[in-house]
Amino acid sequence: MSPHVSARRFLRPSLVLAALLAAAGLPLAGSPVAGQPAAGEPAAQARGEVNVYTYREAKLVEPLFSAFTAETGIKVNTLSANRGLEQRIAAEGASSPADVLLTVDIGRLKDAIDAGIAQPIRSKTLDEVVPAAFRDPDGLWYAISARARVVYASKERVEQDEITYEGLADPKWKGRICIRSGQHIYNNALFAAFIAHHGEAKTEEWLKGLKANLAQKPSGGDREVARDIAAGKCDIGLGNTYYWALMHERDPAKKAWAEATEVILPTFEGGGTHMNVSGVVLTKHAPNQANAVRLIEWLMSDTAQRIYADINYEYPIRTGTTINPVIASYGELRADTVSLVTIAEHKKAAATLVDKVGFDD
Ligand code: FE
Repeated sequence: MSPHVSARRFLRPSLVLAALLAAAGLPLAGSPVAGQPAAGEPAAQARGEVNVYTYREAKLVEPLFSAFTAETGIKVNTLSANRGLEQRIAAEGASSPADVLLTVDIGRLKDAIDAGIAQPIRSKTLDEVVPAAFRDPDGLWYAISARARVVYASKERVEQDEITYEGLADPKWKGRICIRSGQHIYNNALFAAFIAHHGEAKTEEWLKGLKANLAQKPSGGDREVARDIAAGKCDIGLGNTYYWALMHERDPAKKAWAEATEVILPTFEGGGTHMNVSGVVLTKHAPNQANAVRLIEWLMSDTAQRIYADINYEYPIRTGTTINPVIASYGELRADTVSLVTIAEHKKAAATLVDKVGFDD
């Protein structure tokens, strides 16, 4: 895996999809998306457009897509929602205006593939620029940024600046760890990576040890882990790299939570730091396919990689692209080498083990 990867995203509690679509100025299924030709009209491609369905907040991706439009003249129409985009594209079928789905986490990328809404992207450019660990072997998805799942540690109460994932089950942490639900996709992928390294039996033991060390029932999100450390409820916890940066840089109300904690980049014994991604899928029925591939290739350009990584506080995928200084301040990342495809294969087993050990109970 490239040592130089990682990601960020903005999922929020769900709202009624229709309300979201309306708010985004976008029509509901069955009516044409802005810029989408009605039946019988020439393909929207002739008008230089591409339609992106995204879980990222529209205002956050706007600067990125504006740069693409400025460079290529191709207009980007975005439809932003908090959930259900795969199902929507599947339901729209051959008449879906969606060209590209922009989503996060290998779990959600896999869901999109399993829903049958993707087609292989055939691009030599992409295969040259995106490391093999960060794309589907069949070209069904490509990562565009990456994030690491790391430890937030109390600056006051934790002295060590190195840790392994295995070490989180050490009894010395008894009653000192905070974590969100073991079934959340971020933990699910980490636990699946643990299985890839150690097998299911050892992972079960580790999960029991980790659970025994929890200060409280798994709850909240990664930001709340920092909040609870700041409040003294626990001393360490797991969070993604971008949340710490977002709290520290963009959220005055939560800056103190970040400031109470230090980010430690954990590694697997004999491995590296667990990574996950944000990525893109080319939809099966993309009406503006050529423009879509052009957009996806552009997203891997140095310019786009920098904009996207800075917007989201993620690691760029493209080797050599400058890492945002806040993210770089965590230290040198040694990314784990277990591929996301392998991790995806163990996701179900990880979810089963979480239930078996009563991790969330
Ligand atoms: Fe997140």
